Amino acid sequence: METPSRELGISRESGKNIPTVINQNFVTLLDTRTVPGELKWAASPAEGGWEEVSIMDEKNIPIRTYQVCNVLEPNQNNWLRTDWIPRSGAQRVYVEVKFTLRDCNSLPGVTGTCKETFNLYYHESNDDRESYIKESSFIKVDTVAADESFTQVDVGDRIMKLNTEVRDVKVTTRKGFYLAFQDVGACIALVSVRVFFKTCPLTIRNLATFPDTVTGADTSSLVEVRGSCVNQSEERDEPKMYCGADGEWLVPIGGCLCTPGYEEKGGACKACSVGFYKAKSSDAGCSKCPPHSHSLRDGATECDCNSGFFRADSDPPSMACTQPPSAPLQLISVVNETSVVLEWAPPRRLGGRSDISYSLECLICQTGSHSHSQLCLPCGSDVLFSPGQTRLKTTRVVVRELRAHTHYTFIVHARNGVSQASGAGPAQSVSVTVTTNQAAPSPVSSIQATDVTRHSLLLLWQQPDRPNGVILEYEVKFYEKDHKERSYRIIRTFSRNVDVTGLNPLTAYVFHVRARTAAGYGEFSAPFEFSTNSDPFPLIGEGVNSAFLLLSVSGVGILLLISAAVFIISRRRSKYSKTRQDSEEEKHLNPGVKIYVDPFTYEDPDQAIHEFAKEIDVSSIHIERVIGMGEFGEVCSGRLRVQGKREIYVAIKSLKAGYSDKQRRDFLSEASIMGQFDHPNIIRLEGVVTRCKPLMIITEYMENGSLDAFLRKHDGQFTVIQLVGMLRGIASGMKYLSDMSYVHRDLAARNILVNSNLVCKVSDFGLSRVLEDDPEAVYTAREATGTYLSPGGKIPIRWTAPEAIAYRKFTTASDVWSYGIVMWEVVSYGERPYWDMNNQDVIKAIEEGYRLPAPMDCPVVLHQLMLDCWERERAERPTFSQILNMLDKLIRNPGTLRRTGGDRPAPTMLESGMASEVCVSVVPEVCVQEWSVCEWLQSIGLERYTDTLAAAGYTSLDSLLALTHQ
Ligand code: AMP
Repeated sequence: METPSRELGISRESGKNIPTVINQNFVTLLDTRTVPGELKWAASPAEGGWEEVSIMDEKNIPIRTYQVCNVLEPNQNNWLRTDWIPRSGAQRVYVEVKFTLRDCNSLPGVTGTCKETFNLYYHESNDDRESYIKESSFIKVDTVAADESFTQVDVGDRIMKLNTEVRDVKVTTRKGFYLAFQDVGACIALVSVRVFFKTCPLTIRNLATFPDTVTGADTSSLVEVRGSCVNQSEERDEPKMYCGADGEWLVPIGGCLCTPGYEEKGGACKACSVGFYKAKSSDAGCSKCPPHSHSLRDGATECDCNSGFFRADSDPPSMACTQPPSAPLQLISVVNETSVVLEWAPPRRLGGRSDISYSLECLICQTGSHSHSQLCLPCGSDVLFSPGQTRLKTTRVVVRELRAHTHYTFIVHARNGVSQASGAGPAQSVSVTVTTNQAAPSPVSSIQATDVTRHSLLLLWQQPDRPNGVILEYEVKFYEKDHKERSYRIIRTFSRNVDVTGLNPLTAYVFHVRARTAAGYGEFSAPFEFSTNSDPFPLIGEGVNSAFLLLSVSGVGILLLISAAVFIISRRRSKYSKTRQDSEEEKHLNPGVKIYVDPFTYEDPDQAIHEFAKEIDVSSIHIERVIGMGEFGEVCSGRLRVQGKREIYVAIKSLKAGYSDKQRRDFLSEASIMGQFDHPNIIRLEGVVTRCKPLMIITEYMENGSLDAFLRKHDGQFTVIQLVGMLRGIASGMKYLSDMSYVHRDLAARNILVNSNLVCKVSDFGLSRVLEDDPEAVYTAREATGTYLSPGGKIPIRWTAPEAIAYRKFTTASDVWSYGIVMWEVVSYGERPYWDMNNQDVIKAIEEGYRLPAPMDCPVVLHQLMLDCWERERAERPTFSQILNMLDKLIRNPGTLRRTGGDRPAPTMLESGMASEVCVSVVPEVCVQEWSVCEWLQSIGLERYTDTLAAAGYTSLDSLLALTHQ
């Protein structure tokens, strides 16, 4: 505290400052213009210092002011303290002071004593009536100077110039605070004091209500607010927004959907009207009831079917109501012995549906019966229907295996999806009655042999499945297998077995059996084979044989499968290597374009390093100081003197002791990559030290360090042209890298280095280590991102294109996305992309189409270029070559940069404090010394300033570089 400790008195009325109405997104805590009567603030000294004076404002309304004007007396220290101001939940308050100030030069004889500033202080307190507050308890906010002072005292003529100054203060520790104004000898009148804080006003976004929210304590802090769904709506995805320090809502994500029966209208959910419905919350809006349905009340989620119409369980609510089909038509039957062919035509009316099917009912009826009512029973399961009995899509069925001489009734039912719901009955069916003919018995289906000896065996079988009458006899036919049917023997029997004798030993015989009824013989059974043996014991070896056969067949099958697989894989392999070869050939087709070589393709990493980097003798390096910390160890600055060349400043990265083989390889890979590049906007490799320890990588020295920190340090100090110049440099470096087919993957302002001429150079190369080394990079997994699964590796989410996050598709186009983020970082002077939102929200917001807004004072064209870089479809993003052309155009026509989305006018180049460095940032590739001021101004379209600069003595670019802020 600069002021000596003194005490201030209490005002008679305290606590009269009650927060007043919300005015847009401001809440006013104090406004002296609206306080009725006297303010009666505490002044110290009570007499001769600040004095309360009533005056008329420009509209002739009386207002209370405080004035002091002790310009002739030295050592003034006049304090004026407001009453207690409750902060009412605010975290950062704004103090707007309107005042007039007398120009000291216009007062004769005041030299040394007259001042043209006053000091603003604050003191946080829970006590709304603090009687004495030590001066030392007040914290200084700022020294306030007038933009305009006045020279004439004649207030009546309104010559006084009113100044308005606003300061903001973080107030978070107590319930309220006091403000104090310290005068140290100025002639000053405080015309009004207004204290307010900002809120993001109550709003509805994506059907979620976000309450009036007080902004955060810091100018860059965001307050995360969860919205609540409006009436008759439900959450689609947690609705969220961020309240920015300026009282603006940012980054809406998630939202709500109107519940079924309701649709969105003007930010609210309104019920569907009569005759309309909405079935699912995700449906776009209410729809008209489908045909044959209606809704009688507002808010219907489904329409009811008109009488006689129905809806199946699986029918969507959007489908028309339908009816069951009418009966099938023209059923005809053709009997063939014990089979019947049934055929019919589809019904006349399908009921508005296409899912018609038929089913067949089969009834067996007593002889003489012509109805299927009492005297009919369902057929047994032995009856065969082809292609089936139910769910038939065809209109023809063959029924087999019926009994001979029997009456059957067949009913064909037509059905569709609503038959069940409608309780459909006989109206949907048609029937026919038939009588089957006489039929021979069906074949015997199973024969066995027992008691096999050298010359005989006992044959046994089952009665046929359908004897179709009384079996009168069986006939057995058999012959030696080798002789085929050239000679056979027949045995007839009444029983179901027969002793077959007179056989040859060790001989295979084939047997067939058939049955005979009054209708004649049925068909012979299939052949059954049995062999006689050489001894009295039965021997049946077929099982073994067939098992062996099965094994052999499956063995051959497996072998065939394996060979087929090997064939397919080898075909695939050769195709893959062909494509790889093709792409390699493709690269070589383009002569003259240098292609980056991945150092990891070298078996021996040392071979790569010596191919691309120069070995430097350690004695030529002079290390001076530590400038940073890298993944592998310290980064130092120093000097390098190579024989025959002038000494240069360098940065030296060294590999800390105790490294593994992998670390050594990764460390040197950066040099192997960097050594392949030669471009003014890519960090230049001077060489490496690998022959002694520690290992070192020597690069050119970049005096201003990394771009993000540099911009934060110089917040607001550059002209737009200078910022565009930096961006041009980065784009030029990136174009070079993309021409060499190198994908950076971690392009961000923190990985750009800046030299003393403001030239920006891309740095931070490497392969596996690229992202390991970046504190912004995080491992992505389904849990971490909510959406994406990216196995292995880390990704700097905020800088990375969605396709690279989702499935690791890193390309030059994903580098372009990152470049857009770098543009935003540059124009916002190193602000963190997406502020303090978490990574998951960032991914969600991008997926929902949100893009970073234009930073303050950002030219519209630049923001449009950023948005182009952030196209979801990577093919639609510009190339680095197009970006470079665009920036060159902007630099040539700076007028196009004038239009900004914000309200603060962009400073012109010559207004800026760092105008001296523009040239090199705009045309970094060109050697500055070789240019004249005139040529340079022409190149950036600012030739109208040539005379101004020449008149001020700036005729060479060297002299311009020496230009300081003053
Ligand atoms: P890096 O390991 O490349 O990320 O370097 C770590 C830090 O060292 C950087 O953030 C810079 O601040 C600093 N640095 C690296 N290289 C240079 C250089 N060529 N010139 C100046 N500073 C550098």
